[in-house]
Amino acid sequence: MSDFTPSENVKPDGGRKEATLKRLIASRTVKKEETMRAYRTVPRELFLPDHLVHDAYVDTPLPIGEGQTISAIHMCLIYLELLDLKEGMKVLEVGGGSGYHAALVAEVVSPSNQPPSGHVFTIERKPELVEFANANLERAGYSDRVTVIEGDGTLGLPNEEPFDRIMVAAAAPHVPEPLVRQLKPEGMLLIPVGRHHFWQELTLVTKNKKGEVMERRQMSVAFVPLIGKEGWSQ
Ligand code: SAM
Repeated sequence: MSDFTPSENVKPDGGRKEATLKRLIASRTVKKEETMRAYRTVPRELFLPDHLVHDAYVDTPLPIGEGQTISAIHMCLIYLELLDLKEGMKVLEVGGGSGYHAALVAEVVSPSNQPPSGHVFTIERKPELVEFANANLERAGYSDRVTVIEGDGTLGLPNEEPFDRIMVAAAAPHVPEPLVRQLKPEGMLLIPVGRHHFWQELTLVTKNKKGEVMERRQMSVAFVPLIGKEGWSQ
């Protein structure tokens, strides 16, 4: 049996957690120490429905209910690498899902072995997933570093702006203007832009000190649609 074959007979970890990281380091997908530390610290098994716990370290998206998915491990870690996160930063995530990606980011901007410094706000449009993410973050010990908000994340979070970093975990037809507006000077926004389904370009939007905005495509990706006023209609 391969290291990555889903099976009923393996423990949630069973060595796969470290094996997955080793592979991502070897392929140079993961380079930063903080990314490695966050991955090792946050238990992905606590962000999955019970029947999928044994597959927690298979590097693939997994269903979390409501037709939505927790992103693949490599995709979450690519976001951490590209966003150049630093301790103390204020981060907005759009598309909270299970809460796992938000917890990984929180582990970098506000490490769990220290008093809270940075903070992650995550917006999720499905009430059932807001409840799921809150329960997962609570049992994983991140509820003091991550705040889950129900709503349309394409509009951002005007009450909490500006943000050092914004990450969107669903695919948009274009970069939502409210998110660019809510970014600090020298801020970064990472968002998949393109087709409704099948493929998009992961796009890094940077704002310089003068407030000038630049977009750079990073790689092709496949995300579920971002549904909202500044996203898809369904
Ligand atoms: N980051 C999540 C995790 O760690 O589990 C996975 C995100 S999943 C790929 C995309 C999520 O975006 C879904 O839960 C979906 O309901 C949510 N979503 C889609 N459009 C949204 C919007 N306008 N505002 C907030 N959430 C949205």
